[in-house]
Amino acid sequence: MNPGQRIAPKRKLFQWLSTLLLLVIPFLKINGESLLRLDAASRSLLFFGATIRIDEFYLFLLAVLICIFLFLFITLLFGRVWCGWACPQTTLGDIAEWVEEKCASLTRLKAVSALLRQVVYLALAALVASNLLWYFVPPDEFFARVASGRMGTAAGMLFATTFLLVYLDLALVKRSFCKTLCPYGRVQFMTMEPGTLTLEFDPARTEECLRCGACLRVCPMGIDIREGAQVECINCGRCLDACRDVMEGRGGQGLIHYTFGKRSERGWRANWRAILFGGVSLLLVVTLIMGVARREEATLSVRMGANGEVKRLSDGSLVNFYLVYLENRSSAPSTFTLAVEPVPGSRMELIGPVNNILLQPNDNRKLTLALKVSPSASTVRTVELRLLKGGRVVAHAALPVLMQ
Ligand code: SF4
Ligand code: SF4
Repeated sequence: MNPGQRIAPKRKLFQWLSTLLLLVIPFLKINGESLLRLDAASRSLLFFGATIRIDEFYLFLLAVLICIFLFLFITLLFGRVWCGWACPQTTLGDIAEWVEEKCASLTRLKAVSALLRQVVYLALAALVASNLLWYFVPPDEFFARVASGRMGTAAGMLFATTFLLVYLDLALVKRSFCKTLCPYGRVQFMTMEPGTLTLEFDPARTEECLRCGACLRVCPMGIDIREGAQVECINCGRCLDACRDVMEGRGGQGLIHYTFGKRSERGWRANWRAILFGGVSLLLVVTLIMGVARREEATLSVRMGANGEVKRLSDGSLVNFYLVYLENRSSAPSTFTLAVEPVPGSRMELIGPVNNILLQPNDNRKLTLALKVSPSASTVRTVELRLLKGGRVVAHAALPVLMQ
């Protein structure tokens, strides 16, 4: 077969590039912060330069909805191509098979080969568990923790659990996971549309089949594609390559093909559900981008301090006390100033650390402030507290003014 027509090199390239991406992403930084990481300490998601705090629930919800709708869209359009081409579980299954073969070829002693295999599986499990943890703990901090022997309880438990599961997966479970446990295969099989990409043995050419069994021998799931679509099939395309090799060696054409919709049902049919889910995904992505772009760069909230007590001074002025909370939500250190909105005919004075408040990105501060109100402002019930950055109001909150 013309090497350019083989599916295997393309699938392997895609598979390894996506695996490499998963490994590399935690090391990539933007503005000095991780490109993608869930930071437990600050309870925020670092997402391509934006820091989304967990209390910005609507953005989190949008991100989750995008994942769900994109998943449905890709499933409806490309079927189980995900399984064979990008799923980490398939990659682990491929690696386990490769390691088994290599170890067996290195020595004839079965015990040594088995020991070697287990050592490689343990190393791989450690790599996968570390890689998962890097999405929560930055790699440099992770290595420092490992070196000091202080991983932390939560991180240590996540590492140990993932390590154990991946090791058992490599050593025992292997392809059985896709065959019997994986819910995605079942969901995909049930949601399949007539226009979904699938792999098919051409039913119109059954007579041409040489019954050589090449497609069956290469199948990692041990199934026979000639029996039609099966839930175990991961759409890896190995049978397609095998059949092409056999048939083209005899001057014919392969009997197995990737196809959008069954070949027996000729003619293009719109995959309306895929179009719908694709449209919704796009809409959600646009909404998320707008939401992130328009989110506040700082927040300000106020509570009455001193149990709501008001102090009257000898000149008749009243003093109210507050607890003020500020947070810098931008990705750069910022210096803020607090001020009250002027009220015509009244004198108001904000007392406390109101100038040059330096906050690091995602840092917050609690301040105790007092507001001195002149007797002439006896009718004022609320005053606007403003948070300024470079003379620009970036957040505001209402200060209740108690008169007694
Ligand atoms: S039937 Fe073909 S595409 Fe499906 S898992 Fe087996 S080899 Fe891969
Ligand atoms: S490899 Fe092709 S020709 Fe051989 S058994 Fe499979 S479908 Fe038939």
